[in-house]
Amino acid sequence: MSDHCRSCGAEVVFVRSAKSGKRMILDAKAEKRVVLGSAITTLEPDDGIVVGAQHPDAALIARVVRTYVDHHATCSAAAEWKGRRR
Ligand SMILES: [Zn+2]
Repeated sequence: MSDHCRSCGAEVVFVRSAKSGKRMILDAKAEKRVVLGSAITTLEPDDGIVVGAQHPDAALIARVVRTYVDHHATCSAAAEWKGRRR
């Protein structure tokens, strides 16, 4: 499920934001990043509540996740996106 940026031709994916429902354009290639948490900590992305915060001594653990970069940050033609010259 990939497409290409109309401005620079890079391979991208179009998705909808879970939060706003707006369309987003992401670089198609995922990067592996590490997030830190504790074994008893769960992040609820919608309301930001951290479950298990009453256990501050829990050791941190690292999770490797696949992350995507907003194509606005990497597009070589991004200047064109910010408005046209007159
Ligand atoms: Zn682009």
